[in-house]
Amino acid sequence: MSTTQRYKTVLLFGAPGVGKGTQGKILGCIPGFFHLSTGDMFRALDKDSEMGRLFLSFSTKGELVPDDVTVELWRRYTAELVEKGAYSPEADLLLLDGIPRSETQAELMDEHIDVLRIIHLDCDDMDEMVARLRLRAEREKRADDTKEDVIRRRLSIYRAETQPVLAHYAADKRSAIDALGTPAEVQRRILDVLAPLQRDRFGNALD
Ligand code: AMP
Repeated sequence: MSTTQRYKTVLLFGAPGVGKGTQGKILGCIPGFFHLSTGDMFRALDKDSEMGRLFLSFSTKGELVPDDVTVELWRRYTAELVEKGAYSPEADLLLLDGIPRSETQAELMDEHIDVLRIIHLDCDDMDEMVARLRLRAEREKRADDTKEDVIRRRLSIYRAETQPVLAHYAADKRSAIDALGTPAEVQRRILDVLAPLQRDRFGNALD
């Protein structure tokens, strides 16, 4: 894809456990939005493949997969979704959940994505986030969030490597959204921002 055809993108941004996946999945059900989570992309890999093993070697420690591997996998995965017709860049706003997660990833992705808005899900209640991660780990049988030390590592990497990524994008593109409340309440806050953006950029997807 050339620079003039970069995917029109919204970043779902925020700490592990803040609700990006929950919100992204709901939004992804609305015509005109396409939700892509890199955590889901990695978890769908064959665990016995080279890439699957590499992923587990990092994720089980709460660490990030190296930037170049991650961005290249994301690039190929997205191109396949376009080829298969699952995601249509002409009709859908791409909702990225879990990427970019470092300054290097943000730089590498500038070539591929046109970031229209950053939805920053904000929650400074650390205990609430750890509790959410624990609950999800039990429900989804996720190896990375069952151990307290791995959860803490994920949160500390978020603060050190991911949070600074916000500054990569212009301040007027960022929307801070209070992530506390029911999924429906948080969804309404996000839609207050994204519904007009999606309408202005893509019109009615059912037309
Ligand atoms: P998540 O479900 O988004 O919390 O991601 C689960 C795990 O997948 C992370 O802890 C990382 O090991 C890996 N991962 C997901 N997205 C990325 C990314 N953008 N960069 C590096 N590693 C990632």
